[in-house]
Amino acid sequence: MCPSEDGNSTTGVQPEETPSVSRAGAGAGAAAVPLMDRTASELKQLFEATLGGGSLREAVKLPQGIDYREWLAVNTVDFFNHVNVLYGALTEFCTHSTCPIMSAGPKYEYRWADGIIVTAPIEVTAPEYAEFLLDWIEDLLKDDSIFPKNLGVPFPPNFEVLVKTILKRLFRIYAHIYHSHFNIVERLHVDAHLHTCFKHFVLFIWEFRLVGEAELAPLHDMVDAIVKAEP
Ligand SMILES: [Zn+2]
Repeated sequence: MCPSEDGNSTTGVQPEETPSVSRAGAGAGAAAVPLMDRTASELKQLFEATLGGGSLREAVKLPQGIDYREWLAVNTVDFFNHVNVLYGALTEFCTHSTCPIMSAGPKYEYRWADGIIVTAPIEVTAPEYAEFLLDWIEDLLKDDSIFPKNLGVPFPPNFEVLVKTILKRLFRIYAHIYHSHFNIVERLHVDAHLHTCFKHFVLFIWEFRLVGEAELAPLHDMVDAIVKAEP
């Protein structure tokens, strides 16, 4: 894989490390991952059959009388916990040797920067990326000035930007799991749980337009199947 240069533009909080499309190997010799090879209608059927279809679609909507940022906060905590548990089940299969580059299929790889300790994006293995990311999010969630524990305490002005960055990066873990570890997920019989968590996540980010479509490209067909699935 030939990593392209990562952007260093800032989002106000940390550098934006957009997915880099590798110049070499794109489309050539891509490993066949069964799920990724399924047709749009097969994926649509899969996500229609996934638990919590209609209720999830309703569940992501902003409840009446709830502050938008409060709703973002509550759901961000949930999505963090889902990814923590799902990825946690795979740690013995996602190692520095199996996944020496944090990637989502042959065309996308991700570098790490938190904008505080690591300001210039660095190449990391998938388990390093996951560890850095989950630790970074956990620290943010524990910070009362960012995620206030008490109702009525104001959120920081950059809260929505920060949540978008968190969700964008959590998506990358899903993308890595689906591209690199779906066989194990099936063998562990956690595929239905993965699909449900991912569907919930996608419906939420779609409802509030929290993650740009370019970021979703590594799982474009699946995202499409979810947002177009019948309730
Ligand atoms: Zn991995």
